[in-house]
This record gives sequence, structure tokens and C-alpha cells, in this order.
Amino acid sequence: MSYSHCDWPEDEIKRVGYRVVDEIARYLTHLPERPPFEPVPGEAVAAFLDTPAPQQGQAADAILDEVVHGPMRWPFGQGHPRFFAWVNSTPAMMGIFADALAAALNPSCAGGNHAAIYIERQVIAWYRELLGLPRSWGGLLVSGGSMAALTALAAARHARAGFDVRRRGLQHGDRPLVVYRSAEAHTCHEKAIELLGIGSAQMRVIPCGADMRMSVAEFEQAVREDLDRGCTPVALVASFGTVNTGAVDPLEAIAASCRRHGVWLHVDAAYGGPAVLSDRYASGRSALALADSVALDPHKWLFVPIEAGAVLVRNTQVLRDAFSLVPPYIQAAAPADPARIDPVFGFPWFSEYGFQQTRGFRALKCWMVMKQFGLRGYADAVARCITLADRLAAHVADAPDFELFEPRGMSVVCFRYAPPGPVAPELDALNKRVLTAVQLGGQYFLSGTTLAGRSYLRACIVNGRTRESDIDGLLPAVRQAAAGCLD
Ligand SMILES: *Cc1c(COP(=O)(O)O)cnc(C)c1O
Repeated sequence: MSYSHCDWPEDEIKRVGYRVVDEIARYLTHLPERPPFEPVPGEAVAAFLDTPAPQQGQAADAILDEVVHGPMRWPFGQGHPRFFAWVNSTPAMMGIFADALAAALNPSCAGGNHAAIYIERQVIAWYRELLGLPRSWGGLLVSGGSMAALTALAAARHARAGFDVRRRGLQHGDRPLVVYRSAEAHTCHEKAIELLGIGSAQMRVIPCGADMRMSVAEFEQAVREDLDRGCTPVALVASFGTVNTGAVDPLEAIAASCRRHGVWLHVDAAYGGPAVLSDRYASGRSALALADSVALDPHKWLFVPIEAGAVLVRNTQVLRDAFSLVPPYIQAAAPADPARIDPVFGFPWFSEYGFQQTRGFRALKCWMVMKQFGLRGYADAVARCITLADRLAAHVADAPDFELFEPRGMSVVCFRYAPPGPVAPELDALNKRVLTAVQLGGQYFLSGTTLAGRSYLRACIVNGRTRESDIDGLLPAVRQAAAGCLD
């Protein structure tokens, strides 16, 4: 090698790059022929963990050989047409290429007057439009729903604490802060509440009814109790599409209640947001606009490769007030006015609106995938996932040896194997064994969950490659896996 590590000649970039493209094409087109998941064998794990850092640099082809026989040999299965676990989607092709292009440009999207910043602003505006939020809303891209929750709740804490949390912290005996979340809200909110110093003991879990939606009466009751105890209600986390069952909380009534009590309403639409493009969930557009902040995960139902999350807020100035701490090497030139564009520094920096300083060019993959699909293409893809989930639910409802959990929503189907004979708790234990048997069986990959104290299998269809035949084969495959568990 007669060139430096960071300075390859054009022909070599092309030669290695074309091989990378070959490997991507081979991987993606042959994925359906493989099991969705195979556990990494012990020897391979040991080889991964025990290999020391190389002393000498290696040739590109040798590195790519290892990639083919390592990470590409033992994937977790996201993107496989029969992978239905968690809320993990198939990566869109333009997003895959975008990651390489973004790395080639390697801008920091902290801020500045360069195109990547305007692409991110455009992406935020497009997501705002997709969700039906007013033009006055703004926000930024983050790693995912968890960071979106942390960012939004940090803004809520700043806005509603009633004292200067940034300066005082939470250690001076001020009125204790309380955050509310529904029993079905994602656990990332609890992590955020802990990290923000509010403490999970000051988090009230508001029960859900049998419909898996948050009870507004219970929320009202909890707020009254907290006010009586001298606490400050700060924020409520509601869901537009829960992970467990795709439930949508009664957002209109919740928003009215939050307004009455001065509580910040954060709506977690990380998974469910894109459902507003479907006829069934179109009313979500006006409901989401009642929130103070909304989380959306482009790396879920918008088919952007992981990681990509978005946080959108009603009042961007609150976000800036909660996070802005401009270092001296930027301060002198950075514009204070959000409307002014400085020739070098551009708009006020994204880094003033969130925790990260150096920020990657995530926006490019969001932007390229949005262009690949268009809003119409997204609407079709979302509707297709919902139709496939309906189809699966109908199969389960028709099967005498399966139980469907209802109500169900969006593109999630929770069900359990329930042959005649065993009853709870044996059925719970059986379904846990069945889940593992399915995951290791090489035909399908599901996740599991607990609903009303019982174990369920869970399929979430946010998969652009799943066909009807993949749906139709699932129950037979579960039966086959279960047969091995009953012996
Ligand atoms: C995935 C998810 C989260 C967490 O988001 P990450 O992207 O995993 O950090 C939060 N809420 C819902 C509803 C989700 O589906």
C-alpha cells in the first residue's frame, strides 16, 4: 500500500466500494433464504471477544472478508421478511446508501451554514407535515425514541419546575417534581425520569383500562393528590401506539386535563406516528397537535436504518432555554436570532437545542428515504403493514388452539398458544418455551410480552418485505415449535 490511510486514490475507493455494494446486494437479496436468526456459536463468540486489537493495519479485502464471515454471517435478522420482533423494520435502500454518503461528507451537524443543516431542518419540517403538526413547531433529530423522550422531558422540566433547575439542580428542597406516565408507556420514560433527577419514586404510573388506554380519571386523581402533597406536576407521557398492543391513549381528554393543570403533555409516537397516514388513524393528526412535544422514530415505521429518532416541540425556545450553553469558541459569531442566517454560522445551532455537541448527518438518510417513498409511498407501506397484521389476527381468531389478545391496534398482534388442556400458569410457562423454540427454530422471529399478567407471543409488522404467505405460515410454524415443547 503506497497511500495513507485517509488518502486513497480514486480507483481504490471505487474497487473497494464496489465490493461493498456487491456484499450489500448479496446479503439483502439472499436474506429471505436464510433463517431470520441463528445464535452465534460459542467458538465465534470467543473469537470476537478474545481477539486483541491488531498491531498492523490490514488490507481492505481482508477486512471485508471478515465482515462477511462475522457480522454478515450472524445478523439478528432485522430486515428479514419473517422477522416480527419488537418494533424493528426493514432498512430502505436509499437509507443504506445515505449512511455511506453521510460518512463521506462527515459534517458535524452541531450547526453552521452548510447544506446538511438545511437538510435536517427540511426533514424536521417534513415529519411535522407527516404528523399534521403546525408550522410553528420545530425540533431536531436524535438517536431514537429514548433520546427523544429524554430531550422532551428535559424541556418539560425546565418549563414547568417553577424554579431554575439548570442552576439550582434538584438538591435544595424545592417543591418535588412529579412526572406521570401510563402503565403501558415505554420504559425509556422511566429511564429519562431517573436520569433527569426526578427519581422513579416521583413517577406516577397511571393505570390503563381493559382497553390498554390510560385512564384520564386516574390521572386527574393523581394530580390532585400530588398538589395536596405539595408536589409540582411537570409532565405526562401519553402514547400514540404503545409497543405492547398499539394502543392510543385518549389524547383529546388528556390534553384538556393537562392544560387545566399546567402539565406538559409529551406524546410518544415513536412507533405509531406514521399510522396517521392510514385512514384508520387519520384522526391522530389533530390529536398529536394538542401535545407540547412528540417523539417519532424514523428508524421504526419510516424504514430509516437505525439510529434515527426525532423530537418535535410546540415551542422551540423552551428547548433552547433548556439546553443552550454556547462555548466561547462559537459564541462570538453564533447568531442569537433564530431568524438570522450568519454567512459562516448559519442559524442558531442544533447543539443549543439538545444534549449533543458534535452531531452526525442522520438527516441525510431520513431525507433520502422520505424522497424514495414520498408521503404516498409511506401511506401505502403503513397501510400494508396494518392489513398484514389484520390478516394475522384473523388467522389467530379462527384457530381453535390460539388465543388473540384484544383490543389490538396498529400493526401489533399479541396471541398465545392455548391447546386444550393446560391452563394458567402452565400456559404462561408453555408460551415462554414456545417463544424460545420459535426464535431458535429458524423460520420466524417473534418477541414476547406480558399482558394482564399473562405471557403472550407478539408480532409487530413494520416490515416492508413481508408477504401474505409469510403471514399465513406463522401459526403452523408456532404449532410445530410448540409440539417440541409439549413432549
Ligand atoms: C422503540 C420505542 C421507544 C424507544 O425508542 P428507541 O428508539 O428504542 O430509543 C419508545 N416508545 C415506543 C412506543 C417505541 O416503540
